[in-house]
This record gives sequence, C-alpha cells and structure tokens, in this order.
Amino acid sequence: MQQVELLLKNKGLGAEHRQIAEKVANQQRISPEEGLFLFEHGDLAFVGVLANIVRERKNGDNTYFNRNFHIEPTNLCVYDCKFCSYSRLIKQRSDTDAWAYTMEEMLDMVRRYDGHPVTEVHIVGGVLPQYDLPFYQEFFRKIKAHRPDLHVKALTPVEYHYIFKKGKVTYEEGMRLMQEAGLDSMPGGGAEIFHPEIREQIAADKCTAEQWLRIHEVWHELGRRSNATMLYGHIEKFWHRIDHLEQLRQLQDKTGGFQTFIPLKFRNQDNQMSHIPEGTAVEDLRNYAVSRVYLDNFDHIKAYWPMIGRTLAQMSLAFGVDDIDGTIDDTTKIYSMAGSEEQNPALSTHELVEMIRRVGRRPVERDTLYNVVQDYTDTVFEEDKQWRGYIDLPVVQAQ
Ligand code: SF4
Repeated sequence: MQQVELLLKNKGLGAEHRQIAEKVANQQRISPEEGLFLFEHGDLAFVGVLANIVRERKNGDNTYFNRNFHIEPTNLCVYDCKFCSYSRLIKQRSDTDAWAYTMEEMLDMVRRYDGHPVTEVHIVGGVLPQYDLPFYQEFFRKIKAHRPDLHVKALTPVEYHYIFKKGKVTYEEGMRLMQEAGLDSMPGGGAEIFHPEIREQIAADKCTAEQWLRIHEVWHELGRRSNATMLYGHIEKFWHRIDHLEQLRQLQDKTGGFQTFIPLKFRNQDNQMSHIPEGTAVEDLRNYAVSRVYLDNFDHIKAYWPMIGRTLAQMSLAFGVDDIDGTIDDTTKIYSMAGSEEQNPALSTHELVEMIRRVGRRPVERDTLYNVVQDYTDTVFEEDKQWRGYIDLPVVQAQ
C-alpha cells in the first residue's frame, strides 16, 4: 500500500481514489459505480498498482503459460458477427480463404503432436450444420481414444446453443453428452459484450447473453471449469463493460466455475467494423487492470499474446495479468486474420519463459486446470547461456 499512498499524495488523487484503494487493501469488493470511475477517471498508474496488489495476492509473481495447439474446424459460419474477420459466409464457400476440415484431417492434426509435450488442444471455429452434435461427440471420443491425456478444451456456447437446438436436446442433456464424449473444459469465447444494446448491433443472430451464461452455468453444475471473455474497444461504452463484468462476477459467485477472464481487444482489419478505430495500448492496460480489480472472484486474468503482441503482453504483467496463454504453434487464424500483432503466432517454451523472466516474474508452465507442470524459475536453457554472456562475442579491435 506504500506505493498507493505515494501515488495518492504525489498526484493529488481525490477521495474516490482513496476509497477504492482502501477497499482493495481490505479485500472488499468494489461497486459497479467504482468500477466505472476507474475506467473513466482512474489514474493509470494508480489502477495498475491496485491491479498488481490483487494479482500478487492471488498468484504472487507466478506467470502461467501452457503448451497447446489449436484446431479450427472451419471458418465458414452461419452467423454474421460484424466484428468477425475470420468467418466466411456459407454462400462464399468458393472463397479461397475458406476451409472446412474433415474429421480425419483434424485427427491428423492431433496425431502431428504425438510425442510432443503439449497438454491441451483448443478447438473453436465457425458454426456449420454438418458440425453437429454426433460429429463432435465422435471427434472428442476419437481424440481421447488416441491420446487420453490431452485436455480437450472445446467450443463455446455459440456452437453449443446451435448444435443442441439442432439435435433437439436441452442444455443440460447436451453438456452431459459432451462430457461423456470427452470434453474437459470450455473456452471463454462468444461472450462479446452482453448488453443487448451492443450485442444486437455486433452479433445479433447468435446466442444471447442469457444463453451464453446459462450454458456455462450448466457446465459448472457438472463440476467442470470454463473461461470467460469480453470483446472490448469498439462501440461499447465503459458502462457496458461494467455491466458485462458484473454479470460474470454474479455467475461466478453462484458457481465458482470460471477459472480465467480473458479480455479480447477489438481489431479492425477486414471486417464490417473496419471504420471503427482500434483502442490504444494504454486503454488495453487500463482494461486489464480494472478487470483484475473488479473480478475479485476470478483467480486469473489472461493476456492473449497473439492478439496484443509480445511487448504489450509483457507490460500487462504489471497491470493485473498473470497468464499469457500458450505456445500455440501457429495453429490459430482467428486474430491474425483480424490484423493482430502476431501474424504467425508461435513461441517456443524458451521464448515464453524468457518473455516472463525479462519483466521479473516467475514463469510457470501449467496445464489447463492450473496444475503446475513445471516451474522454470531456475531452468537454464542452452539458449540462455548466449543471453547471459556464456559465449564470447566477437570484439572488433580499434586500429
Ligand atoms: S464470431 Fe464466431 S459466430 Fe460470429 S461470425 Fe465469426 S465465427 Fe461465426
């Protein structure tokens, strides 16, 4: 709190700042009004310090990553979300950018990682009628039959709502069938912005906020875990973000099933919202920090490095973030097609560890459920020896 006191004094920050700081220090929850104040008027350094207090209280210096790869079954989609740079409508099927993999092709992608120490496959993509309930049941079963230890983190309520409706099963029955087939956990996508004023403009035809939240709730009731996201920085106002965070906080109070909150930055390349400018890095950092402070019942805040780039991901670790996702291995196109910093996202374990170390944090490889796979604090990689001057650099002698 010393840092907070200094900031309050040196910057002449007023009573609202002090009141929020005292709440955070005393581990009390901030109100929606206070959250809004932090977004609208909070001093950036102050918000960052508060977020860091919460981050270190929950996770110390630990900064998590995992070794994973993605499978994106198709980018054809029956929906038409305005911010989506990735999907191709079914009528554009001849588009050379479009793909729709067969089950065998996707199983080949899984087999490609045989013998590699990956712990998770992340499966998400467009919504198409042929990728239905029986298809995914079979796909998950086959993955598990081939590699039982691989954690299947797959599909969002956007897909589940569609395939359950088509399969004429309830959410409860559908999620139970998915669990039986081998689904281990659910990623956080498809949340966008919950408030109908925004959702109806950017993602009118897919599942509603209530449906998204209910499917997560049903999954949590089965004793399983999931993540949550928020697509920010487009046409929403700060209060829409607070409304979104509040709905997540309330569901988490009820179920405790969310692990991680992942803010997703709006990118404006090649989509129907390209006229809307992207937010700045400062606003990204503020968003991480306010989210960290607001979601006091979430254990983790993740910065998705392919979306914001490595530099900002490193900076985010001082603004409440304790997780920077995984190695990914260039297996996702969702953000690269939207103009993200990383066009071919892939990092080796060594590179991820080094990114974390360079900002003074503790690199910890986790599995999907945050069990520690390896703590890299004292690991010396062969490549590290070069960084640390173990090899002689050529010296040019002055004549
Ligand atoms: S965001 Fe998802 S649901 Fe919406 S159009 Fe893109 S792929 Fe389809």
